Amino acid sequence: MSRFICGKLSRIAPYVPGEQPRDKRYIKLNTNESPFPPSPRAVTAASQEAARLELYSDPDCTQLVKTLAKRYAVNEDEIVCVNGSDEVLNFAFKAFCDAERGAAFPDITYGFYKVFAEFHDIPYEQIPLNEDFTIDIKPYLGINKTVFIANPNAPTGIALSTEQIEEILSSNPDNLIVIDEAYVDFGCESCVPLIKKYDNLLVTQTFSKSRSLAGARLGFGIANPAIIRDLNTVRFSTNPYNVNRMTLAAGAAALEDEEYTQTNCRVIIENREYTARRLAEMGFKMTPSSANFLFARHPGVSGITLYLKLKERGVLIRHFDAPRICEYNRITVGTKEQMDTLLNEISKILEEET
Ligand SMILES: *Cc1c(COP(=O)(O)O)cnc(C)c1O
Repeated sequence: MSRFICGKLSRIAPYVPGEQPRDKRYIKLNTNESPFPPSPRAVTAASQEAARLELYSDPDCTQLVKTLAKRYAVNEDEIVCVNGSDEVLNFAFKAFCDAERGAAFPDITYGFYKVFAEFHDIPYEQIPLNEDFTIDIKPYLGINKTVFIANPNAPTGIALSTEQIEEILSSNPDNLIVIDEAYVDFGCESCVPLIKKYDNLLVTQTFSKSRSLAGARLGFGIANPAIIRDLNTVRFSTNPYNVNRMTLAAGAAALEDEEYTQTNCRVIIENREYTARRLAEMGFKMTPSSANFLFARHPGVSGITLYLKLKERGVLIRHFDAPRICEYNRITVGTKEQMDTLLNEISKILEEET
Protein backbone atom coordinates (compact mmCIF):
# COMPACT_ATOMS: atom_id res chain seq x y z
CA MET A 1 0.00 0.00 0.00
CA SER A 2 1.36 3.44 -0.85
CA ARG A 3 1.17 6.40 1.51
CA PHE A 4 -1.11 8.13 -1.02
CA ILE A 5 -4.12 5.80 -0.77
CA CYS A 6 -7.22 7.40 0.73
CA GLY A 7 -8.50 6.22 4.09
CA LYS A 8 -11.56 4.26 3.04
CA LEU A 9 -9.75 2.29 0.34
CA SER A 10 -6.90 1.35 2.65
CA ARG A 11 -9.39 -0.67 4.73
CA ILE A 12 -11.30 -2.40 1.94
CA ALA A 13 -11.16 -6.17 1.46
CA PRO A 14 -11.32 -6.69 -2.34
CA TYR A 15 -13.11 -9.60 -4.00
CA VAL A 16 -10.97 -12.72 -4.23
CA PRO A 17 -11.45 -14.50 -7.58
CA GLY A 18 -11.16 -18.29 -7.71
CA GLU A 19 -7.53 -19.32 -8.12
CA GLN A 20 -6.13 -19.77 -11.65
CA PRO A 21 -2.86 -21.61 -10.87
CA ARG A 22 -0.34 -22.26 -13.64
CA ASP A 23 1.97 -24.76 -11.89
CA LYS A 24 0.32 -27.71 -13.66
CA ARG A 25 -2.77 -28.60 -15.69
CA TYR A 26 -5.79 -28.86 -13.43
CA ILE A 27 -9.31 -30.00 -14.03
CA LYS A 28 -10.84 -26.61 -13.25
CA LEU A 29 -14.06 -26.97 -11.30
CA ASN A 30 -13.63 -23.84 -9.17
CA THR A 31 -14.98 -20.81 -11.03
CA ASN A 32 -18.18 -22.03 -12.71
CA GLU A 33 -16.90 -21.52 -16.22
CA SER A 34 -18.31 -23.65 -19.02
CA PRO A 35 -16.29 -26.76 -19.91
CA PHE A 36 -17.27 -26.14 -23.55
CA PRO A 37 -15.65 -23.66 -25.96
CA PRO A 38 -17.70 -20.70 -27.24
CA SER A 39 -19.99 -21.26 -30.22
CA PRO A 40 -17.87 -21.48 -33.40
CA ARG A 41 -19.98 -18.62 -34.75
CA ALA A 42 -18.90 -16.44 -31.83
CA VAL A 43 -15.24 -17.32 -32.41
CA THR A 44 -15.47 -16.39 -36.10
CA ALA A 45 -17.31 -13.14 -35.38
CA ALA A 46 -14.73 -12.10 -32.78
CA SER A 47 -11.76 -12.85 -35.00
CA GLN A 48 -13.26 -10.92 -37.93
CA GLU A 49 -13.75 -7.97 -35.62
CA ALA A 50 -10.12 -8.13 -34.49
CA ALA A 51 -9.11 -6.51 -37.80
CA ARG A 52 -11.20 -3.41 -36.88
CA LEU A 53 -9.70 -2.76 -33.48
CA GLU A 54 -8.33 0.63 -34.56
CA LEU A 55 -11.91 1.91 -34.09
CA TYR A 56 -13.72 2.45 -30.82
CA SER A 57 -16.60 0.10 -30.08
CA ASP A 58 -20.22 1.21 -30.48
CA PRO A 59 -21.16 2.87 -27.15
CA ASP A 60 -24.83 2.03 -27.78
CA CYS A 61 -24.06 -1.66 -28.48
CA THR A 62 -26.74 -1.34 -31.17
CA GLN A 63 -26.55 -4.77 -32.83
CA LEU A 64 -26.19 -6.70 -29.59
CA VAL A 65 -29.04 -4.80 -27.94
CA LYS A 66 -31.29 -5.56 -30.94
CA THR A 67 -30.44 -9.27 -30.73
CA LEU A 68 -30.97 -9.35 -26.95
CA ALA A 69 -34.30 -7.52 -27.24
CA LYS A 70 -35.54 -10.12 -29.71
CA ARG A 71 -34.28 -13.07 -27.64
CA TYR A 72 -35.77 -11.83 -24.35
CA ALA A 73 -38.95 -10.27 -25.80
CA VAL A 74 -38.29 -6.80 -24.37
CA ASN A 75 -37.75 -3.37 -25.92
CA GLU A 76 -34.34 -2.04 -26.85
CA ASP A 77 -34.58 0.73 -24.25
CA GLU A 78 -35.06 -1.90 -21.56
CA ILE A 79 -31.49 -3.25 -21.96
CA VAL A 80 -28.01 -2.13 -20.94
CA CYS A 81 -24.84 -4.03 -21.99
CA VAL A 82 -21.86 -4.22 -19.67
CA ASN A 83 -18.35 -5.57 -19.24
CA GLY A 84 -19.41 -8.70 -17.35
CA SER A 85 -22.49 -8.65 -15.14
CA ASP A 86 -20.27 -7.62 -12.22
CA GLU A 87 -20.20 -4.23 -13.90
CA VAL A 88 -23.97 -3.75 -13.93
CA LEU A 89 -24.04 -4.78 -10.25
CA ASN A 90 -21.36 -2.18 -9.54
CA PHE A 91 -23.38 0.44 -11.47
CA ALA A 92 -26.52 -0.50 -9.51
CA PHE A 93 -24.77 0.04 -6.17
CA LYS A 94 -23.54 3.39 -7.47
CA ALA A 95 -26.92 4.49 -8.88
CA PHE A 96 -29.41 3.11 -6.39
CA CYS A 97 -27.77 2.98 -2.96
CA ASP A 98 -26.36 5.64 -0.65
CA ALA A 99 -25.95 6.41 3.04
CA GLU A 100 -29.75 6.80 3.42
CA ARG A 101 -30.83 3.94 1.21
CA GLY A 102 -28.63 1.01 2.16
CA ALA A 103 -28.42 -2.42 0.59
CA ALA A 104 -29.71 -5.81 1.76
CA PHE A 105 -28.66 -9.29 0.64
CA PRO A 106 -28.35 -12.78 2.14
CA ASP A 107 -25.49 -13.61 4.53
CA ILE A 108 -24.45 -16.41 2.20
CA THR A 109 -24.43 -15.24 -1.41
CA TYR A 110 -22.21 -13.87 -4.15
CA GLY A 111 -19.23 -12.27 -2.37
CA PHE A 112 -19.14 -9.24 -4.64
CA TYR A 113 -22.30 -7.65 -3.14
CA LYS A 114 -20.48 -6.99 0.12
CA VAL A 115 -17.38 -5.75 -1.70
CA PHE A 116 -19.40 -3.29 -3.80
CA ALA A 117 -21.31 -2.05 -0.73
CA GLU A 118 -18.03 -1.36 1.06
CA PHE A 119 -16.40 0.11 -2.05
CA HIS A 120 -19.26 2.62 -2.41
CA ASP A 121 -19.49 3.26 1.36
CA ILE A 122 -23.03 1.95 1.56
CA PRO A 123 -24.51 0.57 4.80
CA TYR A 124 -25.68 -2.99 4.24
CA GLU A 125 -27.65 -5.68 6.01
CA GLN A 126 -26.79 -9.36 5.54
CA ILE A 127 -29.94 -11.36 6.09
CA PRO A 128 -29.31 -14.92 7.32
CA LEU A 129 -30.42 -17.80 5.14
CA ASN A 130 -32.57 -20.46 6.81
CA GLU A 131 -30.80 -23.44 8.38
CA ASP A 132 -31.27 -25.41 5.14
CA PHE A 133 -29.75 -22.52 3.12
CA THR A 134 -33.04 -21.49 1.53
CA ILE A 135 -33.89 -17.77 1.47
CA ASP A 136 -36.52 -16.68 3.97
CA ILE A 137 -38.37 -13.96 2.05
CA LYS A 138 -40.15 -12.42 5.08
CA PRO A 139 -37.32 -10.07 6.12
CA TYR A 140 -37.27 -8.67 2.55
CA LEU A 141 -40.95 -7.71 2.54
CA GLY A 142 -41.32 -3.94 2.85
CA ILE A 143 -37.61 -3.53 3.59
CA ASN A 144 -36.47 0.06 3.06
CA LYS A 145 -33.33 -0.90 1.16
CA THR A 146 -32.06 -1.83 -2.28
CA VAL A 147 -32.18 -5.63 -2.41
CA PHE A 148 -29.68 -7.88 -4.19
CA ILE A 149 -30.62 -11.54 -4.64
CA ALA A 150 -28.87 -14.10 -6.82
CA ASN A 151 -31.42 -16.50 -8.28
CA PRO A 152 -30.43 -19.30 -8.16
CA ASN A 153 -28.31 -18.26 -5.19
CA ALA A 154 -24.57 -18.85 -5.11
CA PRO A 155 -22.86 -20.88 -3.79
CA THR A 156 -25.94 -22.85 -2.68
CA GLY A 157 -27.58 -23.25 -6.12
CA ILE A 158 -31.03 -22.97 -4.51
CA ALA A 159 -33.65 -21.00 -6.46
CA LEU A 160 -36.57 -18.87 -5.32
CA SER A 161 -39.85 -19.29 -7.21
CA THR A 162 -41.19 -16.47 -9.38
CA GLU A 163 -44.10 -16.19 -6.92
CA GLN A 164 -41.69 -15.53 -4.04
CA ILE A 165 -39.84 -12.90 -6.07
CA GLU A 166 -43.18 -11.26 -6.93
CA GLU A 167 -44.00 -11.04 -3.22
CA ILE A 168 -40.73 -9.22 -2.59
CA LEU A 169 -41.35 -6.91 -5.57
CA SER A 170 -44.94 -6.03 -4.71
CA SER A 171 -44.16 -5.35 -1.05
CA ASN A 172 -41.37 -2.92 -2.04
CA PRO A 173 -42.87 -0.51 -4.60
CA ASP A 174 -40.37 2.20 -3.63
CA ASN A 175 -37.24 0.03 -3.43
CA LEU A 176 -35.26 -1.40 -6.30
CA ILE A 177 -34.96 -5.20 -6.30
CA VAL A 178 -31.98 -6.58 -8.24
CA ILE A 179 -32.25 -10.21 -9.29
CA ASP A 180 -28.90 -11.61 -10.41
CA GLU A 181 -29.66 -14.42 -12.86
CA ALA A 182 -26.06 -15.48 -13.61
CA TYR A 183 -27.09 -19.16 -13.48
CA VAL A 184 -30.67 -18.94 -14.73
CA ASP A 185 -30.08 -21.03 -17.86
CA PHE A 186 -29.36 -24.17 -15.85
CA GLY A 187 -32.93 -24.86 -14.88
CA CYS A 188 -34.42 -21.89 -13.03
CA GLU A 189 -37.33 -19.72 -14.13
CA SER A 190 -36.28 -16.23 -15.25
CA CYS A 191 -38.13 -13.19 -13.94
CA VAL A 192 -37.31 -11.06 -17.01
CA PRO A 193 -41.02 -11.00 -18.05
CA LEU A 194 -41.83 -9.33 -14.70
CA ILE A 195 -40.11 -6.10 -15.75
CA LYS A 196 -43.30 -5.26 -17.66
CA LYS A 197 -45.30 -5.48 -14.44
CA TYR A 198 -42.85 -4.08 -11.85
CA ASP A 199 -40.93 -0.86 -12.43
CA ASN A 200 -38.74 -1.63 -9.38
CA LEU A 201 -37.10 -4.74 -10.87
CA LEU A 202 -33.63 -4.98 -12.41
CA VAL A 203 -32.60 -8.38 -13.77
CA THR A 204 -28.91 -9.03 -14.52
CA GLN A 205 -27.52 -11.83 -16.66
CA THR A 206 -24.13 -12.87 -18.01
CA PHE A 207 -22.56 -14.57 -21.02
CA SER A 208 -19.88 -16.04 -18.72
CA LYS A 209 -21.55 -19.26 -17.70
CA SER A 210 -24.11 -20.76 -20.08
CA ARG A 211 -22.63 -19.07 -23.18
CA SER A 212 -18.97 -19.98 -22.60
CA LEU A 213 -17.76 -16.37 -22.86
CA ALA A 214 -16.29 -15.74 -19.38
CA GLY A 215 -13.05 -14.43 -20.90
CA ALA A 216 -14.87 -12.01 -23.23
CA ARG A 217 -16.51 -10.15 -20.28
CA LEU A 218 -20.11 -9.60 -21.31
CA GLY A 219 -23.22 -9.09 -19.22
CA PHE A 220 -26.46 -7.15 -19.43
CA GLY A 221 -29.25 -5.69 -17.37
CA ILE A 222 -32.95 -5.72 -18.19
CA ALA A 223 -35.36 -3.30 -16.54
CA ASN A 224 -37.86 -0.58 -17.13
CA PRO A 225 -36.45 2.23 -19.38
CA ALA A 226 -36.03 4.76 -16.53
CA ILE A 227 -33.78 2.34 -14.61
CA ILE A 228 -31.78 1.64 -17.77
CA ARG A 229 -31.32 5.40 -18.31
CA ASP A 230 -29.95 5.72 -14.74
CA LEU A 231 -27.52 2.85 -15.34
CA ASN A 232 -26.44 4.53 -18.58
CA THR A 233 -25.80 7.76 -16.65
CA VAL A 234 -23.28 5.81 -14.58
CA ARG A 235 -21.92 3.98 -17.63
CA PHE A 236 -21.39 7.14 -19.69
CA SER A 237 -19.82 8.81 -16.65
CA THR A 238 -17.22 6.08 -16.30
CA ASN A 239 -16.56 4.22 -19.57
CA PRO A 240 -18.92 4.52 -22.57
CA TYR A 241 -16.79 1.96 -24.47
CA ASN A 242 -17.13 -0.62 -21.72
CA VAL A 243 -17.84 -3.50 -24.13
CA ASN A 244 -15.11 -3.98 -26.73
CA ARG A 245 -15.67 -4.67 -30.43
CA MET A 246 -14.70 -8.34 -30.36
CA THR A 247 -16.96 -9.04 -27.41
CA LEU A 248 -19.92 -7.21 -28.99
CA ALA A 249 -19.55 -9.35 -32.12
CA ALA A 250 -19.01 -12.60 -30.19
CA GLY A 251 -22.00 -11.90 -27.97
CA ALA A 252 -24.45 -11.27 -30.82
CA ALA A 253 -23.22 -14.36 -32.68
CA ALA A 254 -23.48 -16.52 -29.54
CA LEU A 255 -27.05 -15.35 -28.98
CA GLU A 256 -27.96 -16.31 -32.51
CA ASP A 257 -26.61 -19.81 -31.91
CA GLU A 258 -29.24 -20.56 -29.27
CA GLU A 259 -29.27 -24.25 -30.14
CA TYR A 260 -25.60 -24.56 -29.18
CA THR A 261 -26.26 -22.91 -25.80
CA GLN A 262 -29.35 -25.02 -25.14
CA THR A 263 -27.53 -28.26 -25.96
CA ASN A 264 -24.62 -27.39 -23.66
CA CYS A 265 -26.98 -26.43 -20.82
CA ARG A 266 -28.84 -29.73 -21.21
CA VAL A 267 -25.57 -31.66 -20.99
CA ILE A 268 -24.48 -29.71 -17.89
CA ILE A 269 -27.82 -30.38 -16.19
CA GLU A 270 -27.53 -34.12 -17.00
CA ASN A 271 -23.97 -34.18 -15.65
CA ARG A 272 -25.07 -32.29 -12.55
CA GLU A 273 -27.79 -34.82 -11.77
CA TYR A 274 -25.41 -37.74 -12.46
CA THR A 275 -22.69 -36.26 -10.21
CA ALA A 276 -25.19 -35.44 -7.43
CA ARG A 277 -26.46 -39.03 -7.49
CA ARG A 278 -22.94 -40.49 -7.30
CA LEU A 279 -21.86 -38.06 -4.55
CA ALA A 280 -24.99 -38.90 -2.53
CA GLU A 281 -24.10 -42.62 -2.85
CA MET A 282 -20.71 -41.79 -1.32
CA GLY A 283 -22.38 -40.09 1.65
CA PHE A 284 -22.27 -36.42 0.59
CA LYS A 285 -24.96 -33.97 1.67
CA MET A 286 -25.91 -31.40 -0.99
CA THR A 287 -28.26 -28.52 -1.51
CA PRO A 288 -30.71 -28.95 -4.44
CA SER A 289 -28.90 -27.11 -7.25
CA SER A 290 -30.51 -25.26 -10.16
CA ALA A 291 -27.09 -24.02 -11.29
CA ASN A 292 -23.94 -25.36 -13.00
CA PHE A 293 -22.36 -26.30 -9.67
CA LEU A 294 -22.99 -28.48 -6.64
CA PHE A 295 -22.56 -27.40 -3.03
CA ALA A 296 -21.54 -30.47 -1.05
CA ARG A 297 -20.13 -31.63 2.27
CA HIS A 298 -19.14 -35.03 3.58
CA PRO A 299 -19.61 -35.97 7.26
CA GLY A 300 -16.31 -37.90 7.24
CA VAL A 301 -13.93 -35.34 5.74
CA SER A 302 -13.62 -31.61 6.38
CA GLY A 303 -14.26 -29.13 3.59
CA ILE A 304 -10.70 -27.83 3.59
CA THR A 305 -9.17 -31.33 3.57
CA LEU A 306 -11.23 -32.42 0.60
CA TYR A 307 -10.31 -29.25 -1.27
CA LEU A 308 -6.57 -29.63 -0.54
CA LYS A 309 -6.44 -33.36 -1.33
CA LEU A 310 -8.24 -32.83 -4.63
CA LYS A 311 -5.88 -30.01 -5.52
CA GLU A 312 -2.88 -32.31 -4.92
CA ARG A 313 -4.51 -34.73 -7.34
CA GLY A 314 -5.03 -32.07 -10.01
CA VAL A 315 -8.70 -31.24 -9.45
CA LEU A 316 -9.61 -27.71 -8.36
CA ILE A 317 -12.83 -27.00 -6.51
CA ARG A 318 -13.84 -23.90 -4.53
CA HIS A 319 -13.63 -23.79 -0.75
CA PHE A 320 -14.96 -20.83 1.27
CA ASP A 321 -13.85 -20.34 4.83
CA ALA A 322 -16.93 -18.44 6.07
CA PRO A 323 -18.12 -20.11 9.31
CA ARG A 324 -21.56 -21.35 8.15
CA ILE A 325 -20.23 -22.97 5.00
CA CYS A 326 -16.64 -24.02 5.71
CA GLU A 327 -17.50 -27.72 5.68
CA TYR A 328 -18.83 -27.37 2.14
CA ASN A 329 -17.18 -27.10 -1.24
CA ARG A 330 -18.59 -25.67 -4.44
CA ILE A 331 -17.94 -27.95 -7.39
CA THR A 332 -18.46 -26.67 -10.93
CA VAL A 333 -20.19 -29.19 -13.19
CA GLY A 334 -17.97 -30.01 -16.16
CA THR A 335 -17.97 -32.70 -18.82
CA LYS A 336 -18.92 -36.29 -17.99
CA GLU A 337 -15.27 -37.24 -18.26
CA GLN A 338 -14.19 -34.51 -15.82
CA MET A 339 -16.93 -35.57 -13.41
CA ASP A 340 -15.79 -39.20 -13.55
CA THR A 341 -12.21 -38.14 -12.75
CA LEU A 342 -13.48 -36.04 -9.86
CA LEU A 343 -15.63 -38.89 -8.50
CA ASN A 344 -12.75 -41.32 -8.82
CA GLU A 345 -10.34 -39.08 -6.93
CA ILE A 346 -12.95 -38.36 -4.25
CA SER A 347 -13.57 -42.05 -3.65
CA LYS A 348 -9.82 -42.63 -3.20
CA ILE A 349 -9.61 -39.68 -0.76
CA LEU A 350 -12.58 -41.01 1.22
CA GLU A 351 -10.88 -44.41 1.49
CA GLU A 352 -7.80 -42.72 2.99
CA GLU A 353 -9.67 -40.36 5.28
CA THR A 354 -12.58 -42.38 6.67
C1 LIG B 1 -20.30 -15.34 -12.18
C2 LIG B 1 -21.28 -14.46 -11.46
C3 LIG B 1 -21.50 -13.14 -11.81
C4 LIG B 1 -20.66 -12.32 -12.73
O1 LIG B 1 -20.27 -12.80 -13.84
P1 LIG B 1 -19.54 -11.91 -14.94
O2 LIG B 1 -18.48 -12.82 -15.41
O3 LIG B 1 -19.03 -10.65 -14.32
O4 LIG B 1 -20.60 -11.64 -15.93
C5 LIG B 1 -22.50 -12.43 -11.18
N1 LIG B 1 -23.23 -12.98 -10.22
C6 LIG B 1 -23.04 -14.24 -9.82
C7 LIG B 1 -23.90 -14.79 -8.74
C8 LIG B 1 -22.04 -15.02 -10.41
O5 LIG B 1 -21.82 -16.25 -9.98
